[in-house]
Amino acid sequence: MKVVKIYMLVFAGAIISASVSAQSHYPGQHLDKISLKETVPMKAYAFDLQDIKLLDSRFKENMERESAWILSIDVNRLLHSFRTNAGVYSGAEGGYDTIKKLDGWESMDCELRGHTTGHILSGLALLYASTGNEVYRVKSDSIVKGLAEVQNALKQNGYLSAFPQNLIDRNIAGKPVWAPWYTLHKIYSGLIDQYLYCNNRQALDVVEKMAMWAHQRLATVTPEQRKIMIRNEFGGVNDSFYTLFEITGKPEYKSLAEFFYHEETLDPLMKQVDNLKGKHANTYIPKLIGLARAYEIGEPEKNKTISEFFWNTVIDHHSFCTGSNSDKESFFEPDHQSAHLTGYTGESCNVYNMLKLTRHLFCIEGEVKYADYYEKALFNHILGQQDPATGMIAYFLPMLPGGHKVYSTRDSSFWCCVGTGFENQAKYGEAIYYHNDKGLFVNLFIASELTWKAKGLKVRQDTNFPSDETTLLTFETQKPVSMPLYFRYPSWATSGTIVKINGKPLKVKQNPGSYIIVDRSWKNGDKLEVTFLMKLQLNPTPDNPDVVSISYGPIVLAAKLGTDGMQKPAPYSNPKLHNDYYTYDYHVPATISNVLNVKGKAVTEWLKPIEGNPLTFKTANIAEGKELTFVPLFDLHRERYVVYWKLK
Ligand SMILES: [Zn+2]
Repeated sequence: MKVVKIYMLVFAGAIISASVSAQSHYPGQHLDKISLKETVPMKAYAFDLQDIKLLDSRFKENMERESAWILSIDVNRLLHSFRTNAGVYSGAEGGYDTIKKLDGWESMDCELRGHTTGHILSGLALLYASTGNEVYRVKSDSIVKGLAEVQNALKQNGYLSAFPQNLIDRNIAGKPVWAPWYTLHKIYSGLIDQYLYCNNRQALDVVEKMAMWAHQRLATVTPEQRKIMIRNEFGGVNDSFYTLFEITGKPEYKSLAEFFYHEETLDPLMKQVDNLKGKHANTYIPKLIGLARAYEIGEPEKNKTISEFFWNTVIDHHSFCTGSNSDKESFFEPDHQSAHLTGYTGESCNVYNMLKLTRHLFCIEGEVKYADYYEKALFNHILGQQDPATGMIAYFLPMLPGGHKVYSTRDSSFWCCVGTGFENQAKYGEAIYYHNDKGLFVNLFIASELTWKAKGLKVRQDTNFPSDETTLLTFETQKPVSMPLYFRYPSWATSGTIVKINGKPLKVKQNPGSYIIVDRSWKNGDKLEVTFLMKLQLNPTPDNPDVVSISYGPIVLAAKLGTDGMQKPAPYSNPKLHNDYYTYDYHVPATISNVLNVKGKAVTEWLKPIEGNPLTFKTANIAEGKELTFVPLFDLHRERYVVYWKLK
């Protein structure tokens, strides 16, 4: 019944999302495993995730909660639907009946079943890289081994899935089906990540067989069938095939990637047409990640042009103050944010994918605007989507005044955003540092330690940002390293900066929205201290100057509004309903208002910091209404909030 309901939604145009996920491969990474290097010069290269270790912070705490959850899900539970599909129940725990099955989107009647196993392969690979802890690799090996057994048992030319091939047949025939290529993409990517991050050769062997199956299966598809098939959500499967092409150099994988070029959607972008309105956001976004990667490995300039136009369009015309986008999963008309303050804004997978696209475009262009967006979306959306009490994940980030985050449940959700969450929370180290052929970029202010092997250099970043405005870098090196350091001077830091080297002030020539360049010979023990002064700011929506969000530095603030009217199972999703986030009734009490009688007054007149509580503010001098407390939205959990205000 559920699935039938889903078909109806799909064909009514109100698509319940699957989402793309699994890691993308960025320039400069995994050089020992890539046979085709980038042929286009990059402005910046990524480090391997294993070279960055998180130090104590809220980010690390999130990662540890995610880790505990991943490790608690038994391998046999992750394999049972695959084994069922192949007719084998070889779990060490015994037969099929003894395994506690995953529910929600992993239940046996859900057409997306199996996607979580792919996400978890990626999540475990990222956790292994982030921490070096063998426990993640050992668990990964068991899953990969189990999948290899299933692939052999299926005996279908390398096909491997938790559902039968007839879902693919239905997709090709244009018959109703949810999103089989989307789900396969998760498994492709999970296995690729296992090879790249954990050096698991068996994973590469299994995924190559899967790709060769795809090559054979799609060889007989007619152009007309192809056109219909790729209208359906296929995630970032093109990106996975490009990555396999890079690893192996086999042309079949490149043709597979190109097979999934979706002309109908992408060609208008070449003509600089904003065709986003009404499109399912997370079906759309991942198509661009593959294109950006294609450009990096030498495919035509068109791929870059399209990706950049899309990114600019989403950021400039379709995003909320948190860096998230969409209402009920679809893009709306450009610059109409104030008309879409609903309980169904900002699917987490969309942000996950925008961040991946952002990383590619930063490598290509090296522009600070990409790093600014990364910070905005990482702090305001991704970090706050995990419930600190339980580690559960919110699908949407509601902008509805008086709404609240609705979290998944442990065994009965397994939504797409839970899947991407397994990865989001495992890779906070990945976009802090980049390098070019000369020096080092510091893009994010997150407590961490970078080991740059090629330079014989360690850089430790101590910071409690954003609670603290200062970041301290300490250099550790056997011999002095001459190089420029590019320290991001964020666009929001319009109150200026204080920079000190070994305690001595340094004159800064650059402006916000650029890089502070410190070019010198870095010696062991050198310290660079950078402070960016934050200030309160009102951010009007483009369609209504009297509807505003409030930020402090890069951090979006929201008013804490308590739990009145929140009915159980709130703040959790109802475990009996797989998709209730999509129609969730927030029961917002009539007493909650987002009107502020402060029009024309400077924000500093009516919003005052609470001493001793960083990032916390209280209203003052407001003629009517009760006093409100503002905290970072990422820190606001299990209660109602308001992000956007109407000024009167
Ligand atoms: Zn999602």
